[in-house]
Amino acid sequence: MLPAYNPGAMTGAGNNTYLVIGDTGPSTAALIDAGVGAPRHLADLAAALDRRDARLDAVVVTHGHPDHAAGAPAIAAAHPHAAFIKHPWPEEDARYAVAWRTLRDGDVVMAGGVPLDALHTPGHSPDHMAFWHEPSRTIFTGDLVVLGSSVMIHWSRGGDLARYLASLERLLALEPRQLLPAHGPAIDDPKTVLAGYLAHRRARERQVIDALRAGHGSVQAIAESIYDGLAPALMPAAQENVRAHLEKLKTEGLAADEGGRWTPS
Ligand SMILES: [Zn+2]
Repeated sequence: MLPAYNPGAMTGAGNNTYLVIGDTGPSTAALIDAGVGAPRHLADLAAALDRRDARLDAVVVTHGHPDHAAGAPAIAAAHPHAAFIKHPWPEEDARYAVAWRTLRDGDVVMAGGVPLDALHTPGHSPDHMAFWHEPSRTIFTGDLVVLGSSVMIHWSRGGDLARYLASLERLLALEPRQLLPAHGPAIDDPKTVLAGYLAHRRARERQVIDALRAGHGSVQAIAESIYDGLAPALMPAAQENVRAHLEKLKTEGLAADEGGRWTPS
């Protein structure tokens, strides 16, 4: 694991990137997620490649959020052989001046000679991909899970709660042994954590329904009733989460929206 050195309110201690170098064959390597181009990250990457006498051939990006993708041009400048690979999200991908190569669900990416199955796992973002290494039952999970925290669903930026929950179910069904997320520590009990995540979202949905029934009609009022005492810097993200719940309930016929005024139905 190579830290991206970008701590902050939304990234916690900063992003994890993962350098995959195979044990056999030619010394090629792949990096999972690009970080933000921090000089220390680039130096750590160069040193790790040097130690194994390996060349960086691919940078595989879980999704187009800047903390995962913004470092691509800096890495491209330092590693001219590297291909940049992700599921397309054209309006976001265009912000980073590299020639993105397209990855689809079911594709197998060769990362440093190691085969990884690409899983399109949207919801946190429309383009989100996780990478499954079946021999070790390990999944590189990007922003699908963060131990001890929850994942923001930014409805106004392509987040979709129903798809996110389906993505979690898909991970669970693979019966992984380990999850390697882009934030926080490795997860060694995936079943407990994923089941806990699904239960947490169901509980949150009940809170949103209760808030609607109690007469809270705006996203802001519902967020304030649920996330009482939340740090103000995190409130916009909490409102995005509430909006994502409301949109899911609307799709399911359980809530209605008239000009921004929400009611149960
Ligand atoms: Zn993200």
